[in-house]
Amino acid sequence: MNKNIPFLDLKAAYLELKEELDAAYHSVVDSGWYVLGKEVDAFEAEFASFCGVRHCVGVGNGLDALHLILRAMDIGPGDEVIVPANTYIATWLAASYAGATPVPVEPDEQTYNINSTGIEAAITTRTKAILVVHLYGQPADMDPIIDIARRYNLKVIEDVAQAHGARYKGQRTGSLGDAAGFSFYPGKNLGAFGDGGAVTTNDAGLAERIRTLRNYGSKVKYHNEQKGFNSRLDELQAALLRVKLKYLDSWNARREILAGRYMLGLQATGLQLPSVPEWAQPVWHLFVIGCRNREQLQQQLTEAGIGTMIHYPVPPHLQPAYAELGLKEGSFPITERIHSTVLSLPMWPQMDEKQIQTVIDVLLDITF
Ligand SMILES: *Cc1c(COP(=O)(O)O)cnc(C)c1O
Repeated sequence: MNKNIPFLDLKAAYLELKEELDAAYHSVVDSGWYVLGKEVDAFEAEFASFCGVRHCVGVGNGLDALHLILRAMDIGPGDEVIVPANTYIATWLAASYAGATPVPVEPDEQTYNINSTGIEAAITTRTKAILVVHLYGQPADMDPIIDIARRYNLKVIEDVAQAHGARYKGQRTGSLGDAAGFSFYPGKNLGAFGDGGAVTTNDAGLAERIRTLRNYGSKVKYHNEQKGFNSRLDELQAALLRVKLKYLDSWNARREILAGRYMLGLQATGLQLPSVPEWAQPVWHLFVIGCRNREQLQQQLTEAGIGTMIHYPVPPHLQPAYAELGLKEGSFPITERIHSTVLSLPMWPQMDEKQIQTVIDVLLDITF
């Protein structure tokens, strides 16, 4: 029987806040002002406050956020940026866009996040920054990373595209390093209705440089100090994000309840369940299980009408896009093993009791 449970239902978020979102939309289209105006200003102030930092700069998307941070830090050709081997390719592309070389480091097998013990061995005289990802919504272990960065005089940049609102030892992600890049791609925990992104930082000078870079390298209209970019958060997206930001903590709390249900319900299955260190407060962007016969399990779930996704099927070092690095199969065995065993189960804040129980029941049926 087809259970008809999608992997993700984005329309449910719209329907829950329809009145407020429609009002925000009408207010912007009615205002006659669509780029860099009061909605972006207000969103930047509100999001900075949410993250517990002094500055936020809205940009066009998450990749640009990371790319512009590196540019603003003067990291470029000849420089190396340490990145997780186990991440979405955008993390690597940010380094490449800046002209720097991404240097991958293996993850911790339990948390899937970058393993600080591998970082020190990857540092060379060219290393300028460590770009940390809080994968699947779970914060990386930042203290040892910040300690290494201090000792080698490196910048720490967070890729928070999957972890809006998560906490590390009580402190929000996005406030833990020198700067952080967020994505508001629709499927993220704080998702726009199109593309969007932001940089957060406590460094006023850095924020100012990114403000200039996102807008053609110009502080004063038609006066260009440098060859900048066009990467701005739209007024419309900012207005819609301001509505959704008010609900982010409560929607993350719902994800946590759903994750708890999965954890309990799937305990007896032999599937590898997420492992949460005691200092981490994850926001469950994805609920990822590990299993040996992944393709078969995914096929059976598809046949039962349950949507799943693989995050991610091919690691960046084995993508044709990074053939230039000459990293062969087997060069990052932990990452490669993760990529061949992970499967993401349905997860969105409006997913209901009945839906999650159905997924659990089907999995119990299949795995026994
Ligand atoms: C989504 C994502 C990005 C890129 O965000 P975009 O807004 O799509 O450019 C970067 N890093 C990670 C880990 C992501 O999941």
